[in-house]
Amino acid sequence: MTAKLIDGVALSRQIREDLGQRAQVLATQGRRPGLAVILVGDDPASAVYVRNKVKACEAHGLHSVFEKYDGGLTEADLLERIRALNADPSIHGILVQMPLPRHIDPHRVIQTIDVHKDVDGFSTLSAGELMSGLPGFRPCTPYGCMKLIESTGVDIRGKHAVVIGRSNTVGKPMALLLLQASATVTVCHSATPDLGLHTRQADILVAAVGRRHTVMREMVKPGAVVIDVGINRNEEGKLQGDVDFEDVREVAGWITPVPGGVGPMTITMLLVNTVEAAERSLLST
Ligand code: NAP
Repeated sequence: MTAKLIDGVALSRQIREDLGQRAQVLATQGRRPGLAVILVGDDPASAVYVRNKVKACEAHGLHSVFEKYDGGLTEADLLERIRALNADPSIHGILVQMPLPRHIDPHRVIQTIDVHKDVDGFSTLSAGELMSGLPGFRPCTPYGCMKLIESTGVDIRGKHAVVIGRSNTVGKPMALLLLQASATVTVCHSATPDLGLHTRQADILVAAVGRRHTVMREMVKPGAVVIDVGINRNEEGKLQGDVDFEDVREVAGWITPVPGGVGPMTITMLLVNTVEAAERSLLST
């Protein structure tokens, strides 16, 4: 068997077309969706992520505000800036790029963002909404993974899903989203003995570890849907996921490539959340 490719670039394009139209409708109602992105410090990878997010907003008719501060910015000043954006009616989503300099508490920063503007879905309130099955903003990466899985047409209900990784931003919300979709969910992590014992049972396998060769061919059930969230570099500096793509595609039914799978969907779901935040703000006035 050779797995079908789940094309995150094509799916992103499709979702973004629809978003562009929704943004236009909102603009005619005086509610052009607006995203504020804050970057503190000079981390080069963060600068690239932030630039891509701002560019994506501009390309799809969203208003974007990019605020860059040097690494010496105090926590108090950052919180004050967030409170000002909370009160700004032209801004519907606020994203503070992580990691922050050490003297700033990321938890305090995230909790200061108004939950109605928490388009990253990282606050404890947003996490609680997800946990309780209430409408709210879902963290962009697992939300994008769900769209990728849904795009295969495979019915998630009743399937066994295995998530490798339990971070608050990817693994845990991924498991909750799959549970909400009525999968039977197993969550594995660094203390899980015999990872393959679990992954071989997976109809849907999501790898979110950050380590190459975590998922090898013999660990995958024939026909499984394999979603590779990992971003790693090999010895030549080439981008690779957590899954041994060339080998695993011989047994899986569906597989995401790296790059071109989960990555583009993460930014797309940020735009989705921002447009949704603007739509909700219209309903609440
Ligand atoms: P993280 O916070 O470092 O979490 C990694 C998880 O993997 C942890 O739960 C850890 O377990 C688990 N783990 C580590 N070694 C393991 C092993 N040998 N077997 C099983 N589990 C193991 O990372 P993250 O933020 O969730 O991100 C995961 C990966 O996804 C990274 O490569 C990141 O760059 C990538 N990512 C990609 C996107 C995208 O848009 N494509 C977005 C976000 C993240 P413990 O909890 O026990 O330590």
